[in-house]
Amino acid sequence: MSFVVHRFFPTTIRLDRTIVNRILAYAQQAPELEVCGLIGAGEGVARRVYPVRNAAAEADHLFAMDPQQQWQGPFTPGELSALSWLSPLTWVTMGEKQPVDRAWKQPLINAIFVAKLSEQPQAVSNFTCPTCSQSLVTESYEGTQVFQCRFCAGTLVEDGKIARIIARTGRDRPCSERIQALARTVVQENQARHTLQMLKGGRNTVPLFPCPKCKNPMSRSFYSAAHMINVDRCSFCELTWFDRDELEMLQCLIENRIMPGVGLVNEGGAVELSS
Ligand SMILES: [Zn+2]
Ligand SMILES: [Zn+2]
Repeated sequence: MSFVVHRFFPTTIRLDRTIVNRILAYAQQAPELEVCGLIGAGEGVARRVYPVRNAAAEADHLFAMDPQQQWQGPFTPGELSALSWLSPLTWVTMGEKQPVDRAWKQPLINAIFVAKLSEQPQAVSNFTCPTCSQSLVTESYEGTQVFQCRFCAGTLVEDGKIARIIARTGRDRPCSERIQALARTVVQENQARHTLQMLKGGRNTVPLFPCPKCKNPMSRSFYSAAHMINVDRCSFCELTWFDRDELEMLQCLIENRIMPGVGLVNEGGAVELSS
């Protein structure tokens, strides 16, 4: 066993037998770990021992749920940060009977994401991702500036800039086949869900995201009745949040004039959900 005596004054502290025995007893509780603690001293004589939990004991026992919903581990924070699939939304726990939480909620693991953000070239903004709780970075998009999350690929746009993005739609970035197929599916699903909700007379119970700036709950709605893509808005800060692909889907709907209830023809030729 070894221990370091940190001193505030250049003085020697004498440890008597009782204090040493207490440290040894504490060390025996977890022989594989370094013992942490404080020694209270007065006039150069140690009087009390204050054991401190060794944070490294927990750091070596991190488990994370992989994309196939299987628990992996145990990992050290270093091993965890090397995992390609680790994101702020990954479920993590420190052991079998320990609470399970999102990775960003564990300060030890959140430090990994903060470090990754500081390594990338884009400027980090003061806005926070409503799902990952990480800083958004500034990004150039359709000739204007937007803010993106490096982890979930969501985009924050100042309301005044949306019109400019839409005006340029189809010029800089033609709508890809993937986005076009996704947009059709999402609009169809959103319309079906919306119709069902209207029939039931129920309200949307999806939890609301906090605004990336003021942190108050944003309101969720379709971009417009003709463009049924979900967006989250803070009317106070005049900001709109688009989840991954949603901004491109909106552009694609406008570019290809895809309207709800029109052109949603399935492979059998039947028109679904026409209003
Ligand atoms: Zn995010
Ligand atoms: Zn706000």
